Amino acid sequence: MDDRPGTACVVSDDRLTGYNFGPSHPMAPIRVDLAMELATELGVVGDDLRRVGSKAADDDLIATVHTPAYIEAVRAVSADPSVPNLAAGLGTDDNPTFADMHTAGALIVGASVEAARRVWTGQSLRALNVCGGLHHAMPDRASGFCVYNDVAVAIRWLLDNGAQRVAYVDVDAHHGDGVQQIFYDDPRVLTVSLHETPQTLFPGTGVATEIGTDDGIGTAVNVALPPGTSDAGWLRAYHAVVPQLVGEFKPDVLVTQQGCDSHMDDPLTNLMLSVDGQRASYLALRDLAEEVCAGRWVGFGGGGYAVLDVVPRSWAHLMAIVAGRPIELDTPTPPAWREHVVALKSGGMAPQRMTDGRSTSYRDWREGYDPASWLDRQILATRNALFPLYGLDPMP
Ligand SMILES: [Zn+2]
Repeated sequence: MDDRPGTACVVSDDRLTGYNFGPSHPMAPIRVDLAMELATELGVVGDDLRRVGSKAADDDLIATVHTPAYIEAVRAVSADPSVPNLAAGLGTDDNPTFADMHTAGALIVGASVEAARRVWTGQSLRALNVCGGLHHAMPDRASGFCVYNDVAVAIRWLLDNGAQRVAYVDVDAHHGDGVQQIFYDDPRVLTVSLHETPQTLFPGTGVATEIGTDDGIGTAVNVALPPGTSDAGWLRAYHAVVPQLVGEFKPDVLVTQQGCDSHMDDPLTNLMLSVDGQRASYLALRDLAEEVCAGRWVGFGGGGYAVLDVVPRSWAHLMAIVAGRPIELDTPTPPAWREHVVALKSGGMAPQRMTDGRSTSYRDWREGYDPASWLDRQILATRNALFPLYGLDPMP
């Protein structure tokens, strides 16, 4: 581990992959190991992206977001996984219980808070916890593979340590419902989520009219993308909504969740992005941090269930961008990494290159709006719901 100050760091600890729902669950910890291995073999991890350690969050820190009763419930199922607690979402198909679930979740929270702390104290300009991003967890229950909401605890830590305004952008294919709900009435946190429409995907929330409540009106932003949205559509939507609103909000720090389950090969969702489009989204988030908050960027992983073909390449690109040295798209994957993947697949091919060969060009919103397009209607709905609150014109 390397504790020297540097521009960028990735929080990395072998114990983080102890967050493991078992062999039949889609969220396989091997995805993180393969991403770290790929990034390391490509020379991404090192002087430009230092590996740093962290420690488990204590109960007081977790309780800045979660109820004491819920933390107690997680502790109870950790001690005896044979007794589920369905009211707390523990022991369902999505969130099976396992021994040490509490510790595994607390380690991820601790790593995410460490990433936030590094950036906020200026030890690093950019910090990443690829094991984090558990955006569905609610204050009093587990949801969607998420036990403790490390993202929300990290944002709360930033607020408690002097940040006046935090912007959160979530590019996972699923709505970032837990983070949105936890800060729904808080004017200091802007939550932005671009995701597949709740008409076709879990968790069933995240429409344009969810804009926050009470003092937080105008601080929740949702773009509900049609199933089948590909790179061009995704990038069109992002650039039509996110830079303007985050720019007006003027955050002190940008926090992002990079679930890569928006990929066309992901088994759980219906978006159609490529690794190329995902890389373009990470570059856009880096640019956004530079434009609005002097580059301060705290990033997390998230979903991603094409664990061999997609997640390692997407998150190796993410790590390289955080490191300040993006990987060229036509870079071959290292032979040793390929062999590892082929062995895990018991046959078949490993990805040969860091690209899917797709174009990332898109039509800019300012060039016009097509009322016949489902995507454009969704973009306009979000702009109509939010832009007037910031003195912006929703029309192209
Ligand atoms: Zn997801």
